[in-house]
Amino acid sequence: MPDLTDKVVLVTGAGSGTGRVHCERFADTGADVIALDRSEATDDLLETAERVGQRGRRCVVGTADISDLAEVMSAVDSGVTRLGRVDIIVANAGIHTPNKPAWMISALEWQRNLDVNLTGVWHTVKAGVPHIGPEGGCVVIISSTNGLRGTAGTAHYTASKHAVVGLARTLANELGPQRIRVNTLHPGAVATPMVRNPATYKRLRPDLDNPTEADAIEVLTARNLLPVPWVEPVDVANAAVFLASDRARYITGAQLVVDAGLTQKTT
Ligand code: NAP
Repeated sequence: MPDLTDKVVLVTGAGSGTGRVHCERFADTGADVIALDRSEATDDLLETAERVGQRGRRCVVGTADISDLAEVMSAVDSGVTRLGRVDIIVANAGIHTPNKPAWMISALEWQRNLDVNLTGVWHTVKAGVPHIGPEGGCVVIISSTNGLRGTAGTAHYTASKHAVVGLARTLANELGPQRIRVNTLHPGAVATPMVRNPATYKRLRPDLDNPTEADAIEVLTARNLLPVPWVEPVDVANAAVFLASDRARYITGAQLVVDAGLTQKTT
């Protein structure tokens, strides 16, 4: 496992799903954590902090809606006051609102997806990057396979996840001279509440009245090259740790796919 002892990682969406596992995995490598999530997730954030503490590392929690720049700046500044700096940013928080054709998406839904999935990532970078020291660091932006290809019914999500690739490529150009590497991670389906919910099961199995998870798993598995329905949060976190480590020291401006072969399946 890479050694990130005494590095400080800033993780958004840290109260649940993959975000919590990012915090655990970075703590496993020796990093301290600034864990941000929405105020509604305060109890979940405290659970994340507990898990980081069990690994012998410090975790400072902060609440911020990442679509609100002032809240993000304030939460990041508080974290830095406690932990001293930022070395690694994992811009993970994101939303996936219900699927529908592009012309059926309301202006509100469209704007919210862009505000969280794109502008929220920019806010995170804007707040975090100035705290990265002269020795450099790393930004990992969590995009999606929907950041590399389109799928029907996801115009708002897909547009936002493509947009962060452009943001990352630009940042890689701007921050390279400061030894700050910037990459995007592109998970396929991940076993988190974002996928494991009745609405997604219904979307995947419109032929059934009340599809179960097992019904959805058949469809999800058929989409991948490997015989699995999804990747686990830890697989995404392992990839983020790799990108943040010296093992990836010359990787910047890249897109790393963790999708069990979803994007490469041809039949
Ligand atoms: P998740 O379980 O829904 O977790 C997302 C986290 O982000 C939650 O803690 C959520 O808080 C937080 N969040 C949402 N909106 C926020 C906001 N405005 N400000 C601050 N925090 C906010 O989803 P996940 O699967 O772990 O997703 C993590 C990332 O992976 C996302 O960027 C997602 O797009 C991406 N991704 C997921 C999948 C997948 O299949 N799950 C696939 C590809 C990419 P609340 O719980 O309070 O809303």
